Amino acid sequence: MANTNLLGTLDPDTLAGLVAAASSTGYEDWWGRVRSSGYCAHPIHLTRTLAGRTTTIYARCENRRETVCPACSDLYALDTWHIVTGGLTPERLTDAAAVFVTLTAPSFGAVHAHHADDPAGSCRPAVTGTCTHGGATGCSMTHPSGDPAVGSPLCADCYDYEAHILTTWWFPALWNRYTRTLRRLVSRRAPGVKVSFVKVMEMQARLAPHYHAILRANNGSDASGIDPETFATFAAAAASMARVEVPATFGTVTLRLGAQVDVQPLTHEEQTRRVGGYLAKYVTKGITSAALPARIPAANIDLLPIPAHHKRVMSTLARLATLIPDAYAGMADRLGTFGWRGHTTTKSRAFSTTMTAQKQHRAAWRAAHTIEPNHGFESDAGDADWEYVCSGHKTPGHRYLAVTAALKHREQLRTAHTANDVAGQRQGEP
Ligand SMILES: [Zn+2]
Ligand SMILES: [Zn+2]
Ligand SMILES: [Zn+2]
Repeated sequence: MANTNLLGTLDPDTLAGLVAAASSTGYEDWWGRVRSSGYCAHPIHLTRTLAGRTTTIYARCENRRETVCPACSDLYALDTWHIVTGGLTPERLTDAAAVFVTLTAPSFGAVHAHHADDPAGSCRPAVTGTCTHGGATGCSMTHPSGDPAVGSPLCADCYDYEAHILTTWWFPALWNRYTRTLRRLVSRRAPGVKVSFVKVMEMQARLAPHYHAILRANNGSDASGIDPETFATFAAAAASMARVEVPATFGTVTLRLGAQVDVQPLTHEEQTRRVGGYLAKYVTKGITSAALPARIPAANIDLLPIPAHHKRVMSTLARLATLIPDAYAGMADRLGTFGWRGHTTTKSRAFSTTMTAQKQHRAAWRAAHTIEPNHGFESDAGDADWEYVCSGHKTPGHRYLAVTAALKHREQLRTAHTANDVAGQRQGEP
């Protein structure tokens, strides 16, 4: 089940690199370093010279995106899984209520859609007629998942690009209003109850952000607590109440969350594990399948091999940066993230495990599943005299070998642990 997209096709350069890697005299040493980095696809090379002998080790790139490094994205997913499930243990859920919430951006205009719940269904069959620009307002096509048309507007001129950009830009602020509103609703009903959360951003095909969040209300020892159903009602109500006023090309506009709010109370452990799996999966996705640098000069937008909708999002960012520099000059540096400037994963301090605990989990996982001792970076990490040399693999062939091994290693872990441990759980399998 190896994903060949992560490897790319075997072009002549890759093949030549494979041959060079496998036949070189330093192969054994090199492969030992690759193994000790956990088969990282873009390792950081560090060297140290002691008593005239130079040692090179590979440290992990720690990139969370699967397309960049499958091995490190697995670790990132695992960390997320620990944070999520660590906040939903039976002890933490005693005298507490938890919900899983998905918050969306509102509609900015009709876009082509793939219907995951009805894959054979057509895009917008019920809608007929044309818009003022002469474009069709319905679409009878069936878009498969991954169709580049999915997420792009039926009519780019009807689509409200400015509202789209402003909502993406201010989405973290909308989240702040949301949690503030929710906390107010909760404390009015049950004073003393504390609300904590963990959330992950997912970029939709239309390039607008989504938040998937787990919210927990801790009832404490006071008599007046809050039950999961009431908490879920508040979590949905807060979404319709949250808004921010922001500068726009004509004065100010009020931004809101989308009306489509999904709230599920989390009551049993199986649900907990499933949402842990969802969130872990989302963090390893890039903003789009194509890796773009965050900074792209506006003059280069038209040269990029990306869909017209993506270009229009970028040029709207560039336009707002120029038109309203006091508020939005920073948008010019965010073309490659389509205006996203928040974090992918955030949690409130009270939600669950600390970073330290998470690193201990990680170290334990590493010790149990990979890596020979003595080769590891971890044991030497405290030494200050390692010097950075470069990063990445020497040839595409070397990378191919590392990524192939990472994918094979992942499969082995999944097969071996489906029944009872984290490798299965983080896939969200019950
Ligand atoms: Zn890596
Ligand atoms: Zn369509
Ligand atoms: Zn139109």
